[in-house]
Amino acid sequence: MSFQVHGKDLLGRIGTIKTKSGVFATPHMFPVLDPHHRILRREFFDRVGIHAVMTNAYLLKRGRQGLDPVDIHETLDYPGTVATDSGAYQILEYGHVGVAPEEIVGYQEKINTDIGVILDVPTGFRSDPSRARWTVDETVRRADRALEMITRRDILWVGPVQGGVHLKEVERSAREMAERDFAIYALGSPTELMETQRYEVLVDMIVAAKKALPKGKPFHLFGAGHPVLFPFLVALGCDLFDSAAYALYARAGRYLTPEGTQVLGDMVEFVCTCPACVGSSPEEFMLSQEKEGETRLVQHNLWTCFSELRRIREAIRKGRLWELLELRSQAHPALKECFNRITHYAEILERSTPDYAEILERSTPAVKPHGIFYLGPSSDSRPEKLRFVSRLPGSVGERRNIVLVLPGRWRRPFHEDPRYESVAKAFDDHPKVSICFYSLTWGPVPIELDETFPIAQTEGPDTGDPIVLRGRAKTVSEFLQTLHPKGVILVSDGLFGRAVKAELSKRFTKRGLTVLNGELLNPDAIVKSVERKLVRNA
Ligand SMILES: [Zn+2]
Repeated sequence: MSFQVHGKDLLGRIGTIKTKSGVFATPHMFPVLDPHHRILRREFFDRVGIHAVMTNAYLLKRGRQGLDPVDIHETLDYPGTVATDSGAYQILEYGHVGVAPEEIVGYQEKINTDIGVILDVPTGFRSDPSRARWTVDETVRRADRALEMITRRDILWVGPVQGGVHLKEVERSAREMAERDFAIYALGSPTELMETQRYEVLVDMIVAAKKALPKGKPFHLFGAGHPVLFPFLVALGCDLFDSAAYALYARAGRYLTPEGTQVLGDMVEFVCTCPACVGSSPEEFMLSQEKEGETRLVQHNLWTCFSELRRIREAIRKGRLWELLELRSQAHPALKECFNRITHYAEILERSTPDYAEILERSTPAVKPHGIFYLGPSSDSRPEKLRFVSRLPGSVGERRNIVLVLPGRWRRPFHEDPRYESVAKAFDDHPKVSICFYSLTWGPVPIELDETFPIAQTEGPDTGDPIVLRGRAKTVSEFLQTLHPKGVILVSDGLFGRAVKAELSKRFTKRGLTVLNGELLNPDAIVKSVERKLVRNA
């Protein structure tokens, strides 16, 4: 098999997986099909761009007792990639199944699956630590037995990671599985966490598993099928999902959107313009005969899932996955919590996010990376911001006696702001003066960093609420203190300028701090005042 990565942002990646039946793009959700109840035709999958599906080998085997195994592509009338699940989820639900682990591997080979899963033991949601430990150990034993008896190497085998909500066990399980050669690694048992919206635990589990698994292999999260979670899961490094939710939700009259679930009966109009919805209405869906409405709802739900996956891939290409997380985190408090939990791992994300400065250096001048949007304090944990903060201490090349602190406003790079351009120019090469801008997005920006990515490419608001202003002003003041200047000359402009003034007054003496009102003085007057101050200081 080959898994090729074509683009990255945060821990998310765009890739392609090649199986013996075809190629498909990741991130991908395998729609789980009921082998005994086909609702959708092959043409529909082609139209949506679905090139890999999944079905349950155990349910198939049970439904065909006494009959010879048949090629799964024939059974499903689907020539593309078919993944099969082993039935582990049924173990979780019913306690046990009447099939040996060896049998289910052999059966998946006989039906010519493209991606197969060994029969693991899901830890589940309510297992205590000792039960969790046992499920991890037993899954490892079964993995070893499966690897011994696998004869078909043209099938991509999935190694499941267990451990449930017990993070140490998840990590141990991932370490054990990583030592075994699987084409794909997967994390089990998250379904209940998603149903009860305990997303922060889910985030912890994914991070615990990802830490210990080989980075070059695809990572599958079992049972994730709601588009609201896709951006968050992809940002954490999930490449694959599988779910029957699109069909189960449709049966219950539930309409999936990237912001959440709607009930068909509560809707008057469709906002979606997918081929299933366009020109129709929720009422028409509900009144239709012979399950036609349900089928169209199934189709809509799949269109929605795949449109969201395409949106995510586009966001990765543009380096804007973080912006998508911020946007989606506004849709529900539970998603906001999920987002907050992800920011908890911001340093891990920072280490994995490509450095755009490097990309810029490597690219021809015609290829420019995209800027980013700064949307407020929630953007402070994004990798680009953390990277900037970490560069700050060593950024001021030569420390001079006086720091001239200028407003960093809407115009970037800041030294080209028409209002303060002549002031910056007058002192840029002055032997005694260092220049530092104060920006609501970045805090202190020494002129040395003014033109580096993504400072000059970032769109951010120029105003903020008093708490944000104060907090940001404090970071400016703290940074200036680390430079140990003899004097600070602040050109105050706007509300933020006044906040910086207030914070500087706390850290610098009256003699050490000069404040010039940028709103009243013209640039020439500012230059003259600074020059006078320098003469007096000399
Ligand atoms: Zn639709």
